[in-house]
Amino acid sequence: MTKFVETETKSILIKRKFRDNWFWDRYVINPYRGCQFACSYCDAVTEKYLIHENYKDFSRRIYVKKNAPLVLEKEIKKYKPDVIAISGVTDPYQPAEEEYGLTRKILEVLAGHRFSVHIITKSDLVLRDIDLLKEISKHAWCTVSFTIITFNKKLLPYLEPFALPPEKRLKAVEELNKAGIQAGVNLIPIVPYLSDTSCNIEEMIKKASENAKYILIGTSMTLRSNQRIRFLKLLKKNFPELLVKYEGLYGEQENPPEDYILELNRCAFGFCKKYGIKNYIQPPNFERPFKENFEVANHLLLIAFFKEFKLKDIYSAWAYHKVAYKIEGLNKSIDDIHKRGELKKIPGVGESIAKVIEDFLVNGESEKLKDEMDSI
Ligand code: SF4
Repeated sequence: MTKFVETETKSILIKRKFRDNWFWDRYVINPYRGCQFACSYCDAVTEKYLIHENYKDFSRRIYVKKNAPLVLEKEIKKYKPDVIAISGVTDPYQPAEEEYGLTRKILEVLAGHRFSVHIITKSDLVLRDIDLLKEISKHAWCTVSFTIITFNKKLLPYLEPFALPPEKRLKAVEELNKAGIQAGVNLIPIVPYLSDTSCNIEEMIKKASENAKYILIGTSMTLRSNQRIRFLKLLKKNFPELLVKYEGLYGEQENPPEDYILELNRCAFGFCKKYGIKNYIQPPNFERPFKENFEVANHLLLIAFFKEFKLKDIYSAWAYHKVAYKIEGLNKSIDDIHKRGELKKIPGVGESIAKVIEDFLVNGESEKLKDEMDSI
């Protein structure tokens, strides 16, 4: 039996230190704490996020931030319009939303202030708010990502016991795209030894390619603190033969080893090419001061995304991040800096990044990004 606990919050909008180059959000809003979908792999039960006294209450006791829309209405005036992730931690369209409607009220505030939004959910209740998503799409950027990790009916009761069937999620992706709202799939996480077969990955990518604009691939399922305890208990009870394999794969680490991740990334990347679907989200595009700086920054962040996906040149990927944030924060146009031949005066910009920026400003694309996108 789920218990709803109504709470008052002092603050609702969290500003990230840096823009995320997977989901493109700069801010995060979580209207609810706890999640009724109770996915066994959920990392929101880790102590880092949890406010419940006992992690077992995570799906039975849902904290409802009742005054969140009112707080947001005041708070939002202090921030510049940018992409807000709803939610960063739990599902904004879990059943509680049917009763409380907080996510809808939050979207109304965002539409009024022309903020962009990235919704991440497993529920087709998001279709209820299609009017607001269309409104946001008119003046800003809007995308909806549905997490779908498998269509295997034998596995789903263990992995996602209370979430909507994945076929219905995919249908919602199709409906949103038909309505002109960008929607895609998060294949996150790929669960070792349960959903990591090339057969499952191919089926996921093939089906996504028929309905979605993109599929994000997350091959590094974490196992940490409460999440680890809970997931290993599930394995012990239902898949005891896998315990030794998990021990071998993770040991004491929170993530699987790099060679395992890279092999899955290669496999998924190959299927994305085969079925013609992007494995990334096209960067946001909306009106803002020095829009050209924002576009250059996004281009650099996308290059960093591909380097990270290949687990290649991680230091170089970070260099791209740093320059992107620098350029996004400039109060003069990158076009003017380029025309004056002063790109290399920007901290962190050397020969190769200057060439990428120049290519992008002159041609709207760069050889570097094409190379990074082309292979793994
Ligand atoms: S829907 Fe997301 S937040 Fe909710 S339990 Fe599942 S993984 Fe966790």
